[in-house]
Amino acid sequence: MSGTCSLSSLSDERLLEGFGTLVQQDRGRTAELLGYIAEIDGRKLWAKQAHPSMFDFCVVRFHMSESTAGKRIGAARAARRFPVLFDMVARGDIHLSGIVRLKPYLTSDNHQRVLAEATHKTMKELDHLIARLAPRPDVPSRVQILPRRGTAASPSSEPTLFTPESSRPTSTAEPPPLPPPRAPDPTPLAPRRYKLVVTMSEETNHTLERLQGLLSHQIPDGDPAAIVARGLDLLLSQTLKKKAAITDNPRASVPQSSGRSRSIPAHVRREVHERDGGRCAFVGADGRRCNETRGVELAHLHPWAKGGEHSVDNVSLRCRAHNVYEANRDYGPLFMARKLEEARSTREELAVYATTVHVDCAA
Ligand SMILES: [Zn+2]
Repeated sequence: MSGTCSLSSLSDERLLEGFGTLVQQDRGRTAELLGYIAEIDGRKLWAKQAHPSMFDFCVVRFHMSESTAGKRIGAARAARRFPVLFDMVARGDIHLSGIVRLKPYLTSDNHQRVLAEATHKTMKELDHLIARLAPRPDVPSRVQILPRRGTAASPSSEPTLFTPESSRPTSTAEPPPLPPPRAPDPTPLAPRRYKLVVTMSEETNHTLERLQGLLSHQIPDGDPAAIVARGLDLLLSQTLKKKAAITDNPRASVPQSSGRSRSIPAHVRREVHERDGGRCAFVGADGRRCNETRGVELAHLHPWAKGGEHSVDNVSLRCRAHNVYEANRDYGPLFMARKLEEARSTREELAVYATTVHVDCAA
């Protein structure tokens, strides 16, 4: 390969095709490499080469990172025990991280069934599989005082707003912004049971204590998990009501006034959220639907600023990335960059931005 300059001249189709080919080749090479590691390890050739371990041999002699060496050696040892893994890695059925995670739970009796289930699974899905294979008991709820730390808020405590700053079009000279960090998912312990660990402020802890007192008749032991469950239910229904106009008693649709309003009527928000299942409904050229659940907003298929209507047929859910992608496509990156620049200067102009990227969620 002659570098990114030549890649920039490739068509989208050729670029994707080349990427697919390289991924396939990489998997084949990785499987081959695992075979070598398994054989060298089995013969203990690292000792003959004056290394104290296979790990040291890979890190010191071949300058692999510790994590890469650990993962490859772990996967190679599992594949030595269950040789079907070599073919699975070569086909891309399972990744090395997945093998390492599953390894302690594989036995000669279960490995065929478990590995078939593990095919093409993400780490999150593998954690669910492990929770079924080896269920763990519930973790008792507890509130523990932590030593005081610096005042900087953790990234996950910052509200994630869909602002011009965080969603600049990718085709300008500046590099695209990094997506906001995703908070870790609760850990599956057993089927339908999860462990969640959070750090609270003193104020939130005070709120918890007040709720434990107020709800003591219904939750006698004051279990924080039970209070969190109730709180989450309330927050979900409140958020759905606000964002998707989903309530137990929906009102009939109100006829629109004669002027154009950017506000999407409640019945449209409600129907679109229900139809799209609260997930990004963007569908790619190969028919794949995005289905992202975080940061979804209502978006007009035919842009509102170009005369598109607030109708169920013309409004759909989009995640942040696809909202910006379609805005760039509909208005052009230069127009978007200019609007975003203008929008940064005053708060009022944020409304202009919301129009240009056809985001209009709040009532
Ligand atoms: Zn999406």
